[in-house]
Amino acid sequence: MNKYIKYIIVAVIFLVIIVTLVILNINKKNKDKENDEKIKIVTSFYPMYIIAENLLEGTNNTELVNMADVNVGCLHDYTLTTEDMKKVENADIFIVNGLGMENFLDKVINLNSNMHIIDSSTNIQNLIKDEDEINPHIWTSIDNYILQVKNISKELQNKDNLNEEIYKENEEKYVEKLENLKEEYLEASKELEGQKAIILNEAFEYFAQELKIEATTIKTDHEESTLSAETLKNIIDKVKEENIKIIIIDKNDNKSNAETIANETGATIYELNSGLTGSLEKDAYIKAIEENLCRFRDRP
Ligand SMILES: [Zn+2]
Repeated sequence: MNKYIKYIIVAVIFLVIIVTLVILNINKKNKDKENDEKIKIVTSFYPMYIIAENLLEGTNNTELVNMADVNVGCLHDYTLTTEDMKKVENADIFIVNGLGMENFLDKVINLNSNMHIIDSSTNIQNLIKDEDEINPHIWTSIDNYILQVKNISKELQNKDNLNEEIYKENEEKYVEKLENLKEEYLEASKELEGQKAIILNEAFEYFAQELKIEATTIKTDHEESTLSAETLKNIIDKVKEENIKIIIIDKNDNKSNAETIANETGATIYELNSGLTGSLEKDAYIKAIEENLCRFRDRP
């Protein structure tokens, strides 16, 4: 009898193990299937991520991943890493700024030719050329940014029919907020129209264009500390000659050159937010622009 009980116990244990394994396997398969069905949307860098975050809110079966780390800042200084490549290799949709900002795009397309690329810069007008290159930092103009939101939304609607209505609604909500912000902008621009400024960070060229600031942009690749002594002297001469009162830099930039110019000329440094990096919250862009407007309203 004892012997039978032993056999039964062993048999039950085996059975339990087998059933558990089968259940685990089914769960894993279901999970894999779920992941396969999810639309993976990857954004190239921070400003695109914030737009996508707003458009994707409440969508079904989507996964949003930002490729370049938030701390990378501008893709100017960026080299595609193996780790970042992995984020794109199984993406269904890749959202980019465009205008050459993503100079690694060919490499990524080679890696994953099935992926659909959404270029946010389609139909942006009044592009600014620095020497022979188009300045790609279009999002610092609120009008451009709204167009970028609309471009991305339109293509998401085309590519992901299931969530079409949600994209439309989210676009409407976000654009309305941005349009309200634009009204504040127009107010600010009245005061700033025709004011002269030196910009030591090319990201603000579109910001200045929109606010009708008469700006001289010094090409710095976001790193104004690399200015030569000669360039610095020329800027100081220009600021004195033209009685320029405003120096614009990014609040994350090295301040040393701006301080030298300010000390020599009495001009004021405006540390603004170019929206290149920051918090991942949905309203981050709106807050960045509000921050800049406040800075100009309270100006000395
Ligand atoms: Zn840049």
